[in-house]
Amino acid sequence: MDNIRNFSIIAHIDHGKSTLADRLLQITGVVGDHEFRDQMLDTMDIERERGITIKSQSVALPYRASDGKDYVLNLIDTPGHADFSYEVSRALVACEGALLVIDAAQGVQAQTLANFYMALELDLEVIPVINKIDLPSADVDRVKAQIEKDLGLDSDHALAISAKEGTGIEEVLEAVVNRIPHPKGDPNAPLKALIFDSHWDPYRGTIVHLRLFDGKLKPGEVIKFWSNNATYKVEEIGSFLIERKPRKELNAGQVGYMIAGIKTVSDTRIGDTVTLEDRPCKEALKGFKLVKPVVFSSFYPISSDDYEELAVALEKLKLNDASLTFEKDHSTALGHGFRCGFLGLLHLEIVQERLEREFNLSLILTAPSVQYVLVLKDGTETIIDNPAKYPDPVYIQSAKEPFIRASIILPDQFLGPVISLSIDRRGVQKDMHYLDSSRVELTFDLPLSEVLFDFYDRLKSVSRGYASFDYDFLEYRETELAKVDILVSGEKVDALSMLVHKDRAYQRARRACERLKNEIPRQLFKVAVQGAIGGKIIARETVSALRKDVTAKCYGGDITRKKKLLEKQKEGKKRMKQVGNVVIPQSAFLAVLKTD
Ligand code: GDP
Ligand code: MG
Repeated sequence: MDNIRNFSIIAHIDHGKSTLADRLLQITGVVGDHEFRDQMLDTMDIERERGITIKSQSVALPYRASDGKDYVLNLIDTPGHADFSYEVSRALVACEGALLVIDAAQGVQAQTLANFYMALELDLEVIPVINKIDLPSADVDRVKAQIEKDLGLDSDHALAISAKEGTGIEEVLEAVVNRIPHPKGDPNAPLKALIFDSHWDPYRGTIVHLRLFDGKLKPGEVIKFWSNNATYKVEEIGSFLIERKPRKELNAGQVGYMIAGIKTVSDTRIGDTVTLEDRPCKEALKGFKLVKPVVFSSFYPISSDDYEELAVALEKLKLNDASLTFEKDHSTALGHGFRCGFLGLLHLEIVQERLEREFNLSLILTAPSVQYVLVLKDGTETIIDNPAKYPDPVYIQSAKEPFIRASIILPDQFLGPVISLSIDRRGVQKDMHYLDSSRVELTFDLPLSEVLFDFYDRLKSVSRGYASFDYDFLEYRETELAKVDILVSGEKVDALSMLVHKDRAYQRARRACERLKNEIPRQLFKVAVQGAIGGKIIARETVSALRKDVTAKCYGGDITRKKKLLEKQKEGKKRMKQVGNVVIPQSAFLAVLKTD
C-alpha cells in the first residue's frame, strides 16, 4: 500500500481543475501527445462545451518519483457543480488527500471554501495549488495571504503553477507522493469497499467504481450491496487507465472497477458499501445517503408521435444517471409526457439538451418546481411537485417549502445590490463578515424556488461577475402558496400553471401574460391571454388579430422565395403546439419560465 496515493482535484469553477488533470495525464504518459484532446476526463460533448465536469472519471497515473520509487497515483475526478455535491463528498471519501486549485487572479471563491471545508471534514490532506501564474493579472502574494487567512493553511506549502503552460506540474506530483498519506487498511479483513461512482457500458452493463478500504476482491466472488442486500457474482475487476485494465485482484487501499452483470446504475448507489456475501464486514461505511431529486418538470414532445421515442430516450439516459427520475404525466393541452425529477436546474438542462441533441427530440418543458409539503385540514400530509396535483385550497391547512443556506463571496463595493437581490428573492440574512479588507462573505437563507430560476445570473450581473455562490439544502419552512393558471382564448393551458409564493402571484401572472403576448404569433382572430388564481382573473394581455396572408407580399415575386417561406413555416410548425384554436410556439413555453 506504501506506493499508492488516492487523491482528488477540487476547485471553484474555471480555476483550472480539468486543465491540471490533463497535464497530469500527459506528464505521466497515460495519454500520448498525439492522442491528446483538451480535457480528456470531461467526456460528454456538453461538458466540453460548457466547460463543466458532470460525470466523474478516475484514472491511475503511474509515476516514478524523485526518490526513484514507482507509485500509482489514483486521480479521482469529481463533478464541479453544487447540484452534485453529494457525489463530490463520496469521491473525496475515497481519497486521502486533495489538490485545492485556486486561480491566481481570482483568489479564494465560494466553491473554493465549500470544497475546502468538505475535504477538511473528511480529514483529507489538502495541498493548495495556485494556478494561472502566467496571467498578467496573477497576484500570487494576495492569494497566499488568502490561503493563510481564509483557509488557515500555511502558504509556504502552496505550489504555484500554470496548468496551461505546464509549469510546476512535476512539483504537484512530488507533493502528492510526499504529502498525501498512503492508504491504510487490512487486506485480510472482510471486504469493505465504497461505491464512489458508476457508469453504464452498453456491452458490459454497470461498471462500478470502487475504493477498497479492507479486504480484497477477485473475479468469481459473490458481493453484496449493503443498502439493498442485492448480491451479484463478480465477472471482472481492474484498474482505470484511460481504458479499463483487468486484474486478478483488487486489494485494500486500491481504487478500481467491478463488473458483475448489473443491469442499471440504479442498483448501484453512490456511497453504498460493497462486501462479500459469505464473509460480510461488520458495519457499513459512514455517510451513505439516497440522493433524491429536488427539482421537477414535465417534458412533452412537441409532436405526439414522438412520445414513444421520448420514453425510450429517458430509459437510456436513466441507465447512466441514477438520480434522474421520471413517470408518466398527462396534460390536456400537451397530451402525454413525463414528469421528471432532477438534482438541480443544471441537471435538468443537461438532460433536456441531451434529449434534443442526441435523440433529436423537440420538447416543451413545464415550469420547474420544487417539492412542497402540504398539511391538509384532515390532518394528513402530502408532498407535491406538480401544479396539476395541487388540491383545492379549501382543503389545505398549511404549506412548507425547501430553503437553502447560501454563501456568497463578493468585493464589498457590490454589497448593496447583492443584498437587495437576495432580499427581493425572500432571503433572510444570517451573517456577514469581512474575509479581508475588501472581500465579504454573506450568508443568506433563501427559498430554493427563488434560487432555481436565474438567481445565479442576476448575482453575476449585479456584481459584474465578481460574486461567487455556493449552497446547501437547509430545511422545510412554512410558506403560503398560490396556484397561478394561464388561460389562452379562455382555455386553461394546464402545462403553464405554476405554484408560487402568494406575494409573487400577481407579478408572475403579469409577466407570464406579457411574455406569451410577445411570443404567440398573431392569428386570424384576437387572442386573450389571462392569468388567474382559482376563478379570479389577475392579469390580462391581448394578441391582436392578423390582417394579411404571410405569402401575400410575395405575390408576383419569384416563386422560389415563396416556396422558401412556406418551407420555413413548415419547419416552424414542428416547434409549435396547437392548444385549442391557438398555435403556441415552443419559445412561448420557454419564455414563461424565465423570471426577468
Ligand atoms: P475547471 O472548471 O476548474 O475544470 O477549469 P478548466 O480547466 O476548464 O479551466 C478554465 C479556463 O481556464 C480554461 O479556459 C483554461 O484554458 C483556463 N486555464 C486553466 N489553467 C490555466 C493557466 O494555468 N493559465 C491560464 N492563463 N489559463 C488557464
Ligand atoms: Mg472542468
